[in-house]
Amino acid sequence: MYIVQIASECAPVAKVGGLGDVVYGLSRELQKRMHWVEVILPKYDCMRYDQIWGLEKIYHDLWVPWYGGSIHCAVWQGHVHGVRCFFIEPHSQDNFFNRGDYYGYPDEAMRFAFFSKAALEFLLKTNRRPDIIHCHDWQTGIVPVLLFEIYKFHGMQNSRVCYTIHNFKHQGICGEDILRATGLGRRDYFFHYDRMRDNFNPGALNLVKAGIVFSNAVTTVSPQYAWEVRLGDQGFGLGHTLNIHQQKFSGVLNGIDTDAWNPEVDRLLPAHYGPSNLDGKYRNKEVLRDRLMLRAGFKPIVSFVGRLDPQKGIHLIRHALHFSLAHGAQFVLLGSSPDPGIGHAFRQLKRQVNDNPDCHLELRYDEELSHLIYAGSDMLIVPSLFEPCGLTQMIALKYGTVPIVRGVGGLANTVFDRDHSDKPLDERNGYVFHQTDEPAIESALSRAIGLWNSSPELFRELMLNGMRCDFSWNLPGQRYLEIYDGILSQP
Ligand code: ADP
Repeated sequence: MYIVQIASECAPVAKVGGLGDVVYGLSRELQKRMHWVEVILPKYDCMRYDQIWGLEKIYHDLWVPWYGGSIHCAVWQGHVHGVRCFFIEPHSQDNFFNRGDYYGYPDEAMRFAFFSKAALEFLLKTNRRPDIIHCHDWQTGIVPVLLFEIYKFHGMQNSRVCYTIHNFKHQGICGEDILRATGLGRRDYFFHYDRMRDNFNPGALNLVKAGIVFSNAVTTVSPQYAWEVRLGDQGFGLGHTLNIHQQKFSGVLNGIDTDAWNPEVDRLLPAHYGPSNLDGKYRNKEVLRDRLMLRAGFKPIVSFVGRLDPQKGIHLIRHALHFSLAHGAQFVLLGSSPDPGIGHAFRQLKRQVNDNPDCHLELRYDEELSHLIYAGSDMLIVPSLFEPCGLTQMIALKYGTVPIVRGVGGLANTVFDRDHSDKPLDERNGYVFHQTDEPAIESALSRAIGLWNSSPELFRELMLNGMRCDFSWNLPGQRYLEIYDGILSQP
């Protein structure tokens, strides 16, 4: 099968969060199964160019229709850890992708609508006819609309689209000028509640809705989140649309890339370890303490790794920090925030705890340090208000670090409470709480810290239960191939 992924991120070259991990991890898995995979990305100035092998310009004159005229682009090709990627470089005064950051600009919808159009134009002009176009999140929600309303009539009639939504909070709400810009036109047709019109802003279009309506298959990143967005309160206004299209909608749990995330071979760790020998984990704990200037001693390390976004349960993260320190644990946080208010609050908190030898806050993005934290910690908190899938708890489990999570979305599909789950004992792998108030996380944290202190051998069993879980791309890869096969056999 020939599969092209069109996305705004791909780890590690252009990664902001889990989306990047998924695009890379799924591509690798499909390749291992002997499918032909290519990824199309914008050529951002802020990418990790050191992670691209053999970058070269392979298409010099791609003219992409835009409003009444067209924008000149070049297309580059390179390999990102074995995955063939194309990078679209537009040359226009809009300066779409040379802005120093991936996201956060007022013309966001136009930037990625242009990228979506350019990706299809590139496929058309280079005679690429993928069986499957897999696109992701609001940034590429317009791809199936453009494919089935324009490009299909230029020879791309056999391609099918699978659309994956990684987070329903971000929907690409935008103005109708995008219809003129991309050449879709026909305002009355598209600006309709059955198609692209936002369900709640009568004057706006919704790019995620467009993706849902026009794609052949729609997925989100865990079965529990699929339920929450369609029938619960997490759809941010799209539950009704999902109900209408429910026959093509499902939840597929993400995997993690077990070549990159495996404590037995992880090149970023000072010591390797696995379920049969945990000694290396304790060596990593020592190195982590040295590196972050935490004092040595008989204390568990509780950590948090992730974006400091309201979604992640900011008040619970702060509370967990204070609670851990007050209950004989150490606390480590690695996180960054594009929100100036949250960033400021955490810088203040960092100053407050600066002299505390049991606490360290690292307020930036650092891939290398994240590996050491997953390996060197005893517990990792994920107190999200909502969590489509969540990768950090899966990585923690693989690294023998016990997750303490709020039981929502993908967290509920991957972490099973040691004391209260209905799973068999050897499948219980962490601690789960449900409410968003402080006593809820306190109860889970104190059970975890209590077990670590009072019954090290039972705590070790819990770690090993987690390390045995299979969160590789094997099963999700299989599931996506079934979805692809299903839509290819449709007329
Ligand atoms: P989201 O997609 O909402 O950001 P996920 O849990 O799905 O959350 O994925 C987060 C990914 O980003 C994980 O691989 C995590 O290790 C990584 N990550 C998040 N913040 C940082 C950071 N500050 N430094 C290093 N890695 C980070």
